Amino acid sequence: MTGSCVRVPTSEGEATRQVLAERDLLDHGREITVESGTLYIPVTDASAVPPAYDVVERDVPERETQTTPADVLGFEPSYERLGDVVILDEDDEARARRIAEAVVESDLRVRTVVNRASKVKGELRVREWDVLVGDSTETVHREYGHEFRLDIAQVYFSPRLATERHRVVSQVDAGERVIDMFAGVGPFAVPMADRGAEVLACDLNSAAVEYLRENARRNGVEDRLTAVNADVRDLADEYANWADRLVMNLPHSAGAFLETAVALASEECVLHYYDIQHEDDPFGPGERAIREAAGADYDVAVETERVVRSYAPHEYNVCLDVRLTAAE
Ligand code: SAM
Repeated sequence: MTGSCVRVPTSEGEATRQVLAERDLLDHGREITVESGTLYIPVTDASAVPPAYDVVERDVPERETQTTPADVLGFEPSYERLGDVVILDEDDEARARRIAEAVVESDLRVRTVVNRASKVKGELRVREWDVLVGDSTETVHREYGHEFRLDIAQVYFSPRLATERHRVVSQVDAGERVIDMFAGVGPFAVPMADRGAEVLACDLNSAAVEYLRENARRNGVEDRLTAVNADVRDLADEYANWADRLVMNLPHSAGAFLETAVALASEECVLHYYDIQHEDDPFGPGERAIREAAGADYDVAVETERVVRSYAPHEYNVCLDVRLTAAE
C-alpha cells in the first residue's frame, strides 16, 4: 500500500517514532519497514511532519488489524505505557478492573496492569499502585533510543516527560561536566553521558541509584557517568565550582536546593530549573529565587521559559533554562 513515510537511518528509528507518535502522525494501518539500514515509518499527514525529517512516498505492507482495549470495551480508555506495564488512573475500582481485563484480552504486549493508588509522595517522590494484572512492577522502558530498567513501586518515573527530557538533553555538548542533582533512574543523565558529557548523577533513593548504575551499563555509558546515593547538598563541597550544566528536576522543592546549585556551578553554567507554579505567574517565582541565590556572585540570564505540562487546575509544571556567569 503506497503512502507517505518518514525515512531515517535505523539508529534514529526509535527517537523518530516517538516524535511522530507524540504528534499523532503514525499511520497504524501500515507496517514500519526496514531496508539496508534505512527505516520507513508510515505517517498519516506528510504536511504535518517536522521539516527536519525526510518524507518519501513508498509501498509498505498493510498491517494486520490488532484488537485494541477500545475494541473490547466499546469506549476509548485512557492509559499510559511504561515498558510492558500499563498504567491506569481510575478512581472507580470496578472500571479499572474492566479496563485491565480488556487490556489483557487485546493484542497489546503487556505483562502488568496497575492503577494509581496514591499521589507521588515523600522525599523520594514514589507512588503506591494497585496491581490488577501480573505480579511484577519492574519493567524495561525505552525512551529516545535508550533503555531504562526500573520498578515503579520503588522509584519515580514519568514517561510523559520524554519530550521535555529530549529537549534538554539535545543541548548537551561532548566534554561538558553535568550534575543531575535529582537523577532518579537516569533519564536525563544517561542520554547526556551518551552525548559525551561527564555526568555526576545523584539521588537520595538507593533503589533509584542501583537502577541508574544498571542503566548506565545497559546503555554503555558507565565510563562517563558516576552515580551517587546521597543528599545532593552533601556534594556541594567536593564538587564546588565543578558543573557546566545542572539539572534540577524536583519541581515542588527545587528552590530549597538553589544554594547548593550555585555552589556546584562553574564560571559559566546552564541551569535547568523545574518548578510548579500558578498560571498567573509561572516563571516569576523561579527566576526571583535563582537571582536571590546567585546574589552578586553570578550574572543571571534566563534563556528559555517553557511550560512542560499542566499539573493541576491553574497550575503548570515549568522549566527555566538559566545561564549563570560568574561576575567580574
Ligand atoms: N530526574 C528523574 C526523572 O526525570 O525521572 C527523577 C525526578 S524525581 C521528580 C526527583 C528525584 O529526586 C527522586 O528520585 C528523589 O529520590 C530525588 N531526591 C529528592 N530529594 C533529594 C535530595 N535531597 N538529594 C538527591 N536526590 C533527591
